[in-house]
Amino acid sequence: MAIVTLCPQCQTGFTVQPEHLSLADGWVRCGLCTHVFAVDKHLYEMDDPKPVQEFIQPLSRPEQARALEVLPGKNDEWFSYTALAAMSLVLCIQLVLFQRHWLASRVPELAPALVGLCQPFSCDVYVLLDPEQVSMESSSFKRLADKDFVFEAVVRNLGDAELATPALELSLTSQGQVSLRKVIPATELGLPLALQARRTHSFSMHFNVEPAMSADIDGFKALLFYP
Ligand SMILES: [Zn+2]
Repeated sequence: MAIVTLCPQCQTGFTVQPEHLSLADGWVRCGLCTHVFAVDKHLYEMDDPKPVQEFIQPLSRPEQARALEVLPGKNDEWFSYTALAAMSLVLCIQLVLFQRHWLASRVPELAPALVGLCQPFSCDVYVLLDPEQVSMESSSFKRLADKDFVFEAVVRNLGDAELATPALELSLTSQGQVSLRKVIPATELGLPLALQARRTHSFSMHFNVEPAMSADIDGFKALLFYP
């Protein structure tokens, strides 16, 4: 049980110790709205008050003022719950934004919503890059004519999430030595920009090699990578 006083102007509650009644003949100034009132005219008893930092001051002798505790009133409680809900919402949005790339890759259907959520924050949603989960299942390199070649390959996404399509580095060799190296960006492979989870994707590319060089080409090396 605690003795409390209620400011008659702003209805803020403060806990009161018996000795506070004797300071300045019991006249106090509300720490919140500065209203002056006689504390002994506004006394109540209350079970288990929850303290927060606030105080009232005796009117004429502030140097002897003692810190008193404020009881949260109904308005304060409402404000606390609203603030808590707002903070939780902000935390949730932060968490979603922090994990947006992972979420968009796991659940591609969420990607448009995540892009929309990102707009006010000027952020982007990327598809995940995971070189460990992308494998080249097969590849072939064929000469079609003197200087015309075709490269074909099957790429598999081994993971459970959608992954960004990697770029390709194709090295043409002559007697074991690299004679020509080409880097083909993901956008020019003829593949979608994202590789679906647990799926294979095949592609082929035609290109020409200078006649002087093409006669010597007898092999190739292909490597997928994220620039
Ligand atoms: Zn007040």
